[in-house]
Amino acid sequence: MAVNAKAAQLRASGRDILSLAAGEPDFDTPSHVKKAAIAAIRDGLTKYTVVDGTPELKQAIVEKLTRENSLHYPPEQILVSSGCKHSIYNLMQALLDPGDEVIIPAPYWVSYPDMAKLAGAEPVILRTDIEHGYKMSPEQLRGALSRRSRLLVLNSPSNPTGICYSDDELQAFGAILADHPEIVIASDDIYEHILWTGRPFRNILNVCPVLHDRTVVLNGVSKAYAMTGWRIGFAAGPETIIAAMKKIQSQSTSNPSSISQAAATAALSGSQTLVTRRCKTYKQRHDFIVKSLNSIDGVRAIDSDGTFYAFPDMNGIIERRDDIANDVELAEFLLEHASVAAVPGSAFGSPGCMRFSYATSMEVLEQALNNITKALQM
Ligand code: PLP
Repeated sequence: MAVNAKAAQLRASGRDILSLAAGEPDFDTPSHVKKAAIAAIRDGLTKYTVVDGTPELKQAIVEKLTRENSLHYPPEQILVSSGCKHSIYNLMQALLDPGDEVIIPAPYWVSYPDMAKLAGAEPVILRTDIEHGYKMSPEQLRGALSRRSRLLVLNSPSNPTGICYSDDELQAFGAILADHPEIVIASDDIYEHILWTGRPFRNILNVCPVLHDRTVVLNGVSKAYAMTGWRIGFAAGPETIIAAMKKIQSQSTSNPSSISQAAATAALSGSQTLVTRRCKTYKQRHDFIVKSLNSIDGVRAIDSDGTFYAFPDMNGIIERRDDIANDVELAEFLLEHASVAAVPGSAFGSPGCMRFSYATSMEVLEQALNNITKALQM
């Protein structure tokens, strides 16, 4: 918030700010998706739909989950919502009671802990660092479990680190969770298509199918199809949980936009070539930014497995400079002296780090990295 306010102030004073803060693709929504939305308007699909999603979209989701994830759900076990964020919110509201604990590995996507608190629950944050590849260890998970643990949130590939858990790591988590049948697992798969491990995307259900009856798979069209503004996300999971989430949605937002649902149906069922091509572009930008960041003295970046974020550890800079006390001040410094907006790691529960989004053009990235390098050498 502080960095945004400062960026807005600088922009208002006429400064050109290079934004590496975006949490959304810089690409446009594919044209066949836009056409489907226009057709929906023309065809009069402008009324309420059923709360949990049109039969067409739910069928497209059923087929997507089978085709891409080898996961099999009947339509009753799927709820379409106004963005993946809404899906996660519905889940936490439906599942959590005051006193419950939600296990969240850090760095985390900013909304998880606050959504848990809104439901009266307590976030239990498991800190990870760059030395451990920003990954929660099985020992950490085991040590965090208590009688009050109710939900574990997994996000792989992760916002903000871009890191992905391997099958073995997921398997190890599954083995621990097997002894705790009361814990539900939220698998936030929103970045599944922006991945360059060379292996197919896998979530915990692929390696531990025994968790099927207590895992909720959360996803959406925002990141893969550059559809952040359309607000379509979905959840697939146990019937009782999905039914409870649907009740909450029914008394709050009702159905997601009918037009966006038609667009999302086209996105999920249409050609996927653009998704693959865009992923390659993100990878090229990733290679450039990680290399450039590592060439700055005091900055340590590791390769991401996917997403469009780099999350370097900037402690070397903070320790060296008297004029920068922490990551928030470093973000303000970069705005002031490099005209670059980035998000401080403390927003994600990892002080001392910085999130740089490369959902922007190579020209902007080159200019930004050039400015950052010069400013930090001052
Ligand atoms: N989950 C993660 C990890 C995200 O980074 C985001 C968006 O930034 C979301 C969920 C929410 O996505 P949506 O736009 O579908 O609400």
